[in-house]
Amino acid sequence: MRSVIVGAGPTGLYTAIALARRGHQATVIDRDPGPGGGQWWDRKGVMQFHHPHHFRQQVTDALLAEMPEVWDGLLAAGALPAVTPGQFGVPAGLHCRRLTFERVLRSAAEAEPGVRLRTGHVDEVCSEQGRVTGVMVDGHQVEAGLVIDAGGRAGRLTRALRGPAAGGDCGAAYVSRQYTMLPGAANGPVNAPFGVIENYPGYTVAVFIHDNRILSVLIARASADHPLTALRTRAAFEAAARAIPALAAWTDPGCSRPLTPVLPGGRLYNSYRGQLNDAGRVALDGLIYAGDSVCTTNPVAGRGVTTSLLQARRLIDLLEEHGRDYVSCSLAFDHWCAGHIRPWFDDHVYWDADLVRRGSGQDVDLTRPLPPDLIMAAAPADPEIAKVVEPYQAMLALPSSLDAVQARARDSYATGWRPPVPPGPTRDELAGLVGAAAGSPDRPAEDAALSRAGGRAAPSGLAEGERVGLGARVEEGDLEGAVGNRAGLADELVQPLFGHHPAALVVDVGPVRRTRRLPVKQHPVSHRGSWCGRPHDQVQVAGVEAVGDLPAGRVRRGGLLARRPLSRQRPVVEPQLRRGRVDVRLVRYHAAGRSEVLGALVAGVVLR
Ligand SMILES: Cc1cc2nc3c(=O)[nH]c(=O)nc-3n(C[C@H](O)[C@H](O)[C@H](O)COP(=O)(O)OP(=O)(O)OC[C@H]3O[C@@H](n4cnc5c(N)ncnc54)[C@H](O)[C@@H]3O)c2cc1C
Repeated sequence: MRSVIVGAGPTGLYTAIALARRGHQATVIDRDPGPGGGQWWDRKGVMQFHHPHHFRQQVTDALLAEMPEVWDGLLAAGALPAVTPGQFGVPAGLHCRRLTFERVLRSAAEAEPGVRLRTGHVDEVCSEQGRVTGVMVDGHQVEAGLVIDAGGRAGRLTRALRGPAAGGDCGAAYVSRQYTMLPGAANGPVNAPFGVIENYPGYTVAVFIHDNRILSVLIARASADHPLTALRTRAAFEAAARAIPALAAWTDPGCSRPLTPVLPGGRLYNSYRGQLNDAGRVALDGLIYAGDSVCTTNPVAGRGVTTSLLQARRLIDLLEEHGRDYVSCSLAFDHWCAGHIRPWFDDHVYWDADLVRRGSGQDVDLTRPLPPDLIMAAAPADPEIAKVVEPYQAMLALPSSLDAVQARARDSYATGWRPPVPPGPTRDELAGLVGAAAGSPDRPAEDAALSRAGGRAAPSGLAEGERVGLGARVEEGDLEGAVGNRAGLADELVQPLFGHHPAALVVDVGPVRRTRRLPVKQHPVSHRGSWCGRPHDQVQVAGVEAVGDLPAGRVRRGGLLARRPLSRQRPVVEPQLRRGRVDVRLVRYHAAGRSEVLGALVAGVVLR
């Protein structure tokens, strides 16, 4: 059977290898061309690629069950098995960067006889009489009887065929930075399988141990906490890392040195979308969704690759069971996801909403069930609670397992007990010190040197995926990090392209003959060549939508409608973006010509 898998992330690669070993011919298509020969990988479409990942035991189990050579390859590449602190020898997954994980998994897929990796953008799922016949990739059809959409959280390919996603913004944002331990330096203290986590009222910090003595330091804040956005500057991040003991123990210049600039994260959200369409039916016989394309959860609990590979394993079994009856396979998979994956999504939605509430200064609410973080926080003081919490934390028991200790934990909180706060600055002290530090001059030359040395995030803020700028087929996944850290977007993305003049968005999709000049011009005329004679395409704007809470709140959700560009007319972005003002207005002339909708994001505005 010929199958196409859209997306060469963990879900797509794992599924392809496993299917090939069961006799399928699997073509994996991703717009990212792969790592190339160097140390770094400018991964397209996955904004979290260089942010910290911990791979749980379920991921290890999945590899050992289907492709043990990948596990061996990861260890050979410097990854380390993780253990649960205080429980000697209890395995808890893998210490590894996402870059290392994907590189090794991808090599295994490349070596697998039944798998073919292809670079390209999947534009459309093709079908006849309700049955999948393949996909269109850059204008060419690739035939397949089965298409698995493993396009991740930002993939848009099949959205129109599916019911709406449940969920929404997590209310959290984060920045991270990679460090490398100095020769001979000892690790700092740990309190979690992945390294360290400390929760303060108003912010959370973590250290993730990776492969090859590399680690990531992470600081998470409420996304509404604007003073803490300053953490994205190097000086503020370093000041915070010095002031927070759990981070200082790992980032002291005597034990480690930075490997990357500070990497701002993109939008964090919880979403769940099943296999069925609006009418509650399977939209196409032979089209199945898996991985983050089904469920995305707040990364603070590091559950995403686990829920993805659990799905992949179940789907592979169901495909074996149901043969070519893909409709019944989709239905069975949907049912299984509803029982085994959706509970993790629901868990995060409840947890995150309560965190946002408490982040605004409110106390524990004893009139409603306690969220999981409060139950977990009560565990160290009560072995009965700990017994129930441990399997939940390890994702060996579903969130409903916590119901057994709800009452017990609530009794603790009812006495007035609250989880102890670790040593370190309060949220207000942190805001004060990062605010003061953010005013000091940045050192772009050092960031550039870090970038050249391997940690190639763009200077002053944009993570590597965001620097694709307005290349062909810019998608949400490429730019969402920039929008998540709005302050940086105007300078890094919009200004260099639009300058201080109104300009239309023209995206080059042809080969660039002269690379010295940007493929963007200020007043392009529809259906004419670009100003340096290169082939080019134009963006046709079908609509404009505000994303989240925009800078200075001047552009409100839905508030753009009155001024939205009409289909086949181009948008113009006015200057002053840096001053918290984003303006989109119609161009009276030059309707856009032959075009594809590229879904570019401009300063918190999605152009469709
Ligand atoms: C900040 C952050 C930190 C995280 N930390 C952790 C962690 O510690 N542990 C953990 O387990 N999980 C973590 N996760 C979640 C984890 O990253 C995801 O669960 C994982 O990436 C899902 O894999 P996937 O293969 O389903 O999708 P993805 O990794 O998103 O891959 C999808 C691929 O499909 C491609 N694609 C999409 N559409 C098309 C198209 N039309 N044509 C061609 N290619 C296409 C994309 O370019 C991409 O390469 C984190 C997530 C975030 C946001």
